[in-house]
Amino acid sequence: MTTPHPFFFTWAAQNHALPFAMASGRGAEIVTTDGDTWLDLGSLSYQANLGHGDARIIEAIARQAQTLCVAPPTAVFPAKTEAAERLLAMAPEGFSKVFFTLGGAEANENALKIARLFTGRHKLVSRYRSYHGATMGALTLTGDFRRPPLEPGLAGVVHAMDCYCDRCPFGHVVDGCRRECATHIGDLLALEGGVAAVILEAVPGANGVLFPPPEYWPMVRAACDAHGALLIADEVLTGFGRTGAAFAFERFGGEPDMITVAKAVTGGYAPLGAVLVHDRIARHFDEHVLYAGLTSYAHPLGCAAAAAALAIYEQDDLFARADRLAPMLISAMRELAAEFPASIEHPRGLGLMAAVELCAPADRIAAFFAEIRARKLWLHMDARRKLLIVTPPLIIPEDLFAEGLSRLADAARAALGPS
Ligand code: PLP
Repeated sequence: MTTPHPFFFTWAAQNHALPFAMASGRGAEIVTTDGDTWLDLGSLSYQANLGHGDARIIEAIARQAQTLCVAPPTAVFPAKTEAAERLLAMAPEGFSKVFFTLGGAEANENALKIARLFTGRHKLVSRYRSYHGATMGALTLTGDFRRPPLEPGLAGVVHAMDCYCDRCPFGHVVDGCRRECATHIGDLLALEGGVAAVILEAVPGANGVLFPPPEYWPMVRAACDAHGALLIADEVLTGFGRTGAAFAFERFGGEPDMITVAKAVTGGYAPLGAVLVHDRIARHFDEHVLYAGLTSYAHPLGCAAAAAALAIYEQDDLFARADRLAPMLISAMRELAAEFPASIEHPRGLGLMAAVELCAPADRIAAFFAEIRARKLWLHMDARRKLLIVTPPLIIPEDLFAEGLSRLADAARAALGPS
């Protein structure tokens, strides 16, 4: 028996996929074809930071479609320039060029190409608990379970251990931490030699919302400088307010040479990704060929959506809003862990990005997830990694957010309470 759908579902054996019959969305709510209303506490696949149905973005896309809908990579048009200028204005001082793509994996592919072309080196360092995208280069950089089935990938990629403070791979507790997760990357750069770039999710997202300890980013930056490697921050999941800043690395210091973005750059309203490049690297390509391109480079509809979305983040002061709502989220996660110590542990969060780990038996975790679905909450439930990740749209109304968090606690009581 195969599914009745004429298309594949991603990352799934097709007969076990969980189709979601979505009809429309408004604000932080999603309506299904059955007429049910779900509350989006996950920003769908982490792209809907601006919620659903924002007329300002929809109108910008419609206007663009009516004026210029198809353009070659060499085209210059206002939405392309505006999207690039707005992105560079959000980046640290000195970032001067944008390379556009259609999504996050392609952004990382092109960042690594830029790093190879600029340094003349080919090796790359990433981390195990990471996801960088599904294309072969980005998948080789990826450290999680999605990489091994597709190996071999790119030659010259080395994975580092993670900054996973709640389960430190170096065996430390907070007070005994000597930041081996950062010095380890310096060791890898020295031992490998010839590394073009280190690429790190600013905060590893889907693999557990793993916040780096203080000094981690500055220490990795210093190690890259010492060994002539570039530092790339993958902000595909964390960019645009998720942690209360434009980019998550800003919360930890240690500026990268390149920043990759996608997902929420358009609020998810149209596909677009980008590599933001510091001028010291961008300048190299004034006289050297940039061997990179796509037919739909800077697609007009993606650029129009990005220009509108980036303006909204600013006008509505949404990064600060994420910070303001953050205490509600982390308190709710801590309360869950306190109420169910045998099932829920290690609550952690920053801005509107939080996670808990599930230590209940698998059948209880499955029951918890079923209760969450029964309460029509959309969030990231990961049975394989025993994780629950909450990342609501930055625009979620406070009362709905409180109600959603209380529905989550009810789901926990129904599934994990004393039986
Ligand atoms: N990088 C990170 C950190 C991601 O979370 C993702 C997607 O989830 C990607 C890259 C790949 O982005 P895309 O699916 O747009 O190719």
